[in-house]
Amino acid sequence: EAKNRGKNQIAECTPGLRSKVEVTVGMMRQLLRAQERNELELFYQPQVCCGTGAVVGLEALIRWRHPEKGMIPPGLFIPVAEQTGLILPIGEWVLRTACERNKAWQDAGLPPVRIGVNLSVRQLQNPGIVDTVKAALRDSGLEPRYLELEITESVVMKGTDTIETINRLKELGVYISIDDFGTEYSSLNYLRSLDVDRIKIAMPFVQGVEESRKDRAITKGIIVLAKTMGLGVIAEGVETRTQLDYVTEHGCDEVQGYYYYKPLPSAEMEELLRQQGLSERLVTLGRTGH
Ligand code: C2E
Ligand code: MG
Ligand code: MG
Ligand code: MG
Repeated sequence: EAKNRGKNQIAECTPGLRSKVEVTVGMMRQLLRAQERNELELFYQPQVCCGTGAVVGLEALIRWRHPEKGMIPPGLFIPVAEQTGLILPIGEWVLRTACERNKAWQDAGLPPVRIGVNLSVRQLQNPGIVDTVKAALRDSGLEPRYLELEITESVVMKGTDTIETINRLKELGVYISIDDFGTEYSSLNYLRSLDVDRIKIAMPFVQGVEESRKDRAITKGIIVLAKTMGLGVIAEGVETRTQLDYVTEHGCDEVQGYYYYKPLPSAEMEELLRQQGLSERLVTLGRTGH
């Protein structure tokens, strides 16, 4: 009796820990099967040029279409994938799928756009990532300049090996960008130690521009910093006209956010590109007078 009570006490002492482990293991099992069962899917969020309003890029964002639970956002399963190492096969699937999709759209005659893929720190700590990216490009036939790899600032904290890996990725001719810029410890150090192509201003700064003088100063400051360093800059999470106008006025190149578009399923993304292709052709016809 006393023994059993002892056991139960242990279980009761650590319910949080116990259920956390159970949830992780349970989700890992389901994630393992999700890939085989084609439950993973990419959505695509358009990136819009501030000057022209044209869609010039996309970000691929993973979703899990769970047979019972419906659509699960990445925030709920990517951390588990990272903890368990499943991010390696899943990340490779994302890379291959994004490259193939983008090449297929180009082959169908749609206006060419860059496609952004998020890389986890865990993927970058694996030196095999360079070959994985190379293979995804080769097998899809996508030109490297149409692929953008989004990395978060924390990778620089992981040391020189990771920096070396990023430099080798850059040598492939792909675009490298810093995601969620300004939210980690080493933002500026990062810009010193790495040759990146562009900065993605983190959402909280952009969304604060109406309310907060500090967020206005930070957002403007990041744009000026990027431009001074000769880098591209995109504002994430633009939801209002005021936010769009503010970043445009201060020289931001592109925006991504609900003001223009939410992440779209593949078919809707394709339709949007088709519309844009048609209107571009009309403009060209108008100019040449035919
Ligand atoms: P992220 O890379 O910073 O992606 C942007 C996130 O902001 C997306 O959330 C997008 O839907 C959301 N977003 C864009 N515009 C707006 C807006 O105007 N308002 C608001 N409230 N949200 C906006 P999502 O798709 O849930 O992805 C969350 C995070 O999950 C991503 O943040 C990224 O870190 C990670 N993630 C997504 N797909 C992948 C992937 O394939 N691999 C890896 N390793 N991580 C991924
Ligand atoms: Mg991203
Ligand atoms: Mg991110
Ligand atoms: Mg981001």
